[in-house]
Amino acid sequence: MPAADNAEAGAAARRSYPAGGPDGETQARLRQVLLGLRSGLMRSNQDLANEALKGSGQDFSLDHMADQASDNTEQMVSIALLEGETEMLEAIEDAIRKIDGFHDLPFGLCETCAGMDAWDEEGPAPWIPTGRLDAVPYARLCVAHQEEQEED
Ligand SMILES: [Zn+2]
Repeated sequence: MPAADNAEAGAAARRSYPAGGPDGETQARLRQVLLGLRSGLMRSNQDLANEALKGSGQDFSLDHMADQASDNTEQMVSIALLEGETEMLEAIEDAIRKIDGFHDLPFGLCETCAGMDAWDEEGPAPWIPTGRLDAVPYARLCVAHQEEQEED
């Protein structure tokens, strides 16, 4: 395991994090997955934005009331989706930045755990398990912190 190389390269710019995290091969593989997710999401974001903008310049005649109501619903759904997808897109962009070394944090480190100083004592494992990254490569948090956040 060439873990020492990674640790030395990052030591100057970053505070030191405990050993672990996805290896280079895993990061390269997940980077490809993230790029694919990003381009798919950007396409669907464009569609949703078009859908959400369609409502301006509406027709207010009585004949079109029913159509308009369903248009408005669609529009709201589009906006909601757009907000959710924008959040996901940001998470994907951050994950790619982490892999490329343009982010404060290394890829695969839980962002909440990273802010804690107690890893080597009683803190949770700061690295997101590879199995979780395979399922959600843009995950920002470990399972424990994700669940904690969802309870709020
Ligand atoms: Zn965590």
